[in-house]
Amino acid sequence: MNEILRQIPKIDLIIELLPEKYLEQLDIQHIKTVIDENLNDLRTQIVKGKINEVVVNEVILNIVDSLERLLTHNIKHVINASGIVLHTNLGRAVLSKQTLSYLEETMSHYNTLEYDLIKGGRGSRYAHVEGLLCRLTNAEAALVVNNNAAAVILVLNTLANDKEVILSRGELVEIGGSFRIPDVMKASGCKLVEVGTTNKTHLYDYENAISSETGMILKVHTSNYQILGFTHSVDRESLGELSRKIEIPFYEDLGSGAIINFDTIEGLQEPCISECIRAGVDLISFSGDKLLGASQAGIIVGKKKYIDLLKKNQLLRALRIDKLSLAVLEDTLIKYQNKQNAILDIPTLSMLHMSEDAVYEKVTRFVKANQYALQKINMRYAIEPMVSQVGGGALPLVELPSYGLTLKGDLNLNNLQIAMRKLNVPIICKIDNESIHFDFRTIFDDEFSMLIDGITTVTLGAQLE
Ligand SMILES: *Cc1c(COP(=O)(O)O)cnc(C)c1O
Repeated sequence: MNEILRQIPKIDLIIELLPEKYLEQLDIQHIKTVIDENLNDLRTQIVKGKINEVVVNEVILNIVDSLERLLTHNIKHVINASGIVLHTNLGRAVLSKQTLSYLEETMSHYNTLEYDLIKGGRGSRYAHVEGLLCRLTNAEAALVVNNNAAAVILVLNTLANDKEVILSRGELVEIGGSFRIPDVMKASGCKLVEVGTTNKTHLYDYENAISSETGMILKVHTSNYQILGFTHSVDRESLGELSRKIEIPFYEDLGSGAIINFDTIEGLQEPCISECIRAGVDLISFSGDKLLGASQAGIIVGKKKYIDLLKKNQLLRALRIDKLSLAVLEDTLIKYQNKQNAILDIPTLSMLHMSEDAVYEKVTRFVKANQYALQKINMRYAIEPMVSQVGGGALPLVELPSYGLTLKGDLNLNNLQIAMRKLNVPIICKIDNESIHFDFRTIFDDEFSMLIDGITTVTLGAQLE
């Protein structure tokens, strides 16, 4: 064993044998740490009797692998072939290249984040998008924070701290990981008063729950599930009227939140923000990176007297939106001033509005351009109808008819799917009906060459095994 341990190369020799690149891009202490870790592993293996010869080349290759990982980003481009437009695990809303070129210009220089050019002094970061939001939603005032979860906490804590908040049992939701309305209430210092039952809540349930301790009526948009059948909920008009009568705020957490209506997309009848305002909701909050298609942000719109109180809450400093998100949000909102352009320029909106025929045209173009490569892979390929989803925890019941490429064959599909994720540009695809599915609604034209390279690499590689 000692004989084998003596074969382990010296650190200085290893450093000499490493490609120049790593010495240029990494400080020597990071390289030495990696070498130490690798050699320690090697020693352990030798002591356990698992290795009986040290091959210097192999040792070097392992170290090079580890060094390469230090220089590789963990957040990287993936091809989303799942057909889920707002994929929370894949970064939710995709940003347009136009927006990014504006971002590059403003963020690689100083900017007016908190500077008032007219006064020549301190300005407010919240002022940049307030006017736009008010015009687009018909609200009196607006405020943006870090995300919608932060918006919910800020509103509850400002307006109903130490008070009771009335909510229908049918709206006691959990959204994604770890955002549960009852827990958020507690964290914001509010006491939840549940009314009604899971499937039915009436106006008198709210009326009977009102006490001197009531601080707010809350409505939560149940965007990620639906209760069907024998149901009843109270409309916004009636809740608005009730809250005005007892002079407390009526707040709705809308979740996804649509500035434009999506009438042309079957099943996507999300309430529009301006309709909710008109119906008498005092404050509404929604996400920046769901249906809006912008950056992570929590947008709050509504009555000025309430927004003014939110702006004074000390918590706002901890929940504030960062400059990158704010710049993306402003750019996106500017585009919303023309609905047609918004649908063209905001990737989330374009993908949602893409017709079945347009997706069919896209996948056909891909197949025609890559026919030769596809014939070589020795799996059967076809263009087939598929169903895309909106995603983002929103509207799981909405089905967007789509098209895509399927691959069928004798190869193990699970292994192929895993191999697709290991590519330089990983491909996230689905297995359905004993074939691999690539939904083309969420695949971009500029990804075609990476997609065909990936498919070729994985399928040909698998045949060799
Ligand atoms: C998604 C969602 C949230 C959380 O929004 P984030 O922007 O992800 O923080 C809160 N409430 C509802 C109803 C939602 O759908």
